[in-house]
Amino acid sequence: FSPASDGDGRKSRRRVLMFPLPFQGHITPMLQLADVLRSHGEFDVTIFQAAVNEPDRARHPAAAAGYRFVTVGAGVAAALAETFPNRGANSDFAGMILRMNELLRAPFEDILREVLAEDAAGDDAPAAACLVVDSNLRWMQEVAERLGVPTLSLRTGGAACLVAYMTIPELCDKGVLPLQSRDPLQLDMPLTELPPLRLRDVLFSATTTHDTMATCLERIIESSRRSSGVIVNTFDDLENSDLQKIANGLGVPAYAVGPLHKISAGMESSSLLAQDRSCLEWLDKQETESVLYVSFGSLASMDPEELLETAWGLANSKTPFLWVIRPNLVHGSLQQVSCLLPDGFEEATRGRGTVISWAPQQDVLRHRAVGGFWTHSGWNSTLESICDGVPMICRPQFADQMINARYVQEVWEVGFELEGKLERGMIERAVTKLLREEEGREMRQKAKDLKNKAAVCIEEGGSTRNTINMLVNLIMSF
Ligand code: UDP
Repeated sequence: FSPASDGDGRKSRRRVLMFPLPFQGHITPMLQLADVLRSHGEFDVTIFQAAVNEPDRARHPAAAAGYRFVTVGAGVAAALAETFPNRGANSDFAGMILRMNELLRAPFEDILREVLAEDAAGDDAPAAACLVVDSNLRWMQEVAERLGVPTLSLRTGGAACLVAYMTIPELCDKGVLPLQSRDPLQLDMPLTELPPLRLRDVLFSATTTHDTMATCLERIIESSRRSSGVIVNTFDDLENSDLQKIANGLGVPAYAVGPLHKISAGMESSSLLAQDRSCLEWLDKQETESVLYVSFGSLASMDPEELLETAWGLANSKTPFLWVIRPNLVHGSLQQVSCLLPDGFEEATRGRGTVISWAPQQDVLRHRAVGGFWTHSGWNSTLESICDGVPMICRPQFADQMINARYVQEVWEVGFELEGKLERGMIERAVTKLLREEEGREMRQKAKDLKNKAAVCIEEGGSTRNTINMLVNLIMSF
């Protein structure tokens, strides 16, 4: 890395302000980016944390010098729960994000004024250079703009997803959106503007109205366009052409700084749930590339019938599996995992399957025993799987997950989508295809090729390292 310097050639410490969207898949990459900037040596970091879904700070190395956490918006969690009692795929996620913006705006303005006043008073802390804000928090960015703080917009999804969102207004102008009917023929219509996506892939969620979705996406685009640069957790060799479309289409630089999890400290510290690390010992006893890892991230959910089909599909596949059933995976259920599984499942899978409530996912995917990942296709999971050469079965539910799954299947060819009503026979066939058939082997080989490319881009002189140097120099120039 080449440290930037001030006018006299001396290194000058700066402080970066960061504001993640308070969900697991957004907190983690923001904290990873914080680690990357911190390890560069010139930056202190202040993280604004909405008072909802707060990670356990005691576990974060932030306790170490240079990090400061500031909680914003006491009472936000209760206010959100009132309007959005459900989380997950069947909740109005876009509506929740807009509401969160409303609730956080005023408290953030007060706190940001205080932080800037401390700087002006010549406090010991280095002065704030800029705010790195999650692109879903456009209203926080507006506050920063008003107070004269430069901003960078962090996209925690892939570049392809942002390009799709940039194209939504065009689809509205052409009358493709709003959706006229949920007729499968219409849903499967290929989007000539966004190959290989279909109309169904850009629909965000069945529980979000078109207007709410359009407003939410408009604000994401505005956040990117109004920033001094969009930071994307991806790498050049994976999404080069979409990164160029972002830079050209929005007129701001796009910084591909990923895969962040491969260049930052471990993620145990930012995990909202405690990770069950005992599964790694179980993996140690399994044969190489024999295990299917099954996890649907922090928000996706299923109904009891789908859980049942999944259980019997896994049991019947005769394949070793590690399955994450997190506390609220099944709609409306906070029951213990053991109460949710069907009678006879344990006997049928004894010695071959392990069920836990939250995994150290990055360590699991890195483990030699894991041969496939059945995922909900969240961007972090997708990127983590690709960077460890693990092919995927994709079962997307909402937001960008359908776009990611489509790219996995059609562009990178490192997995395939499981479509239609979830049923045990289809699961059994999919698992067999991924882990034991030629097609699965080819997907694994392509995933390993991408893994190697990711490894090269994070080496000294690689595209990600160069981009981070440019980003650091930009921040130092503010
Ligand atoms: N994750 C984990 N343990 C699990 C499941 C997920 O640590 O059992 C992590 C995973 O490594 C990823 C994040 O949670 O970094 C999920 O992010 P993603 O974007 O895949 O999905 P989301 O939860 O936002 O839907």
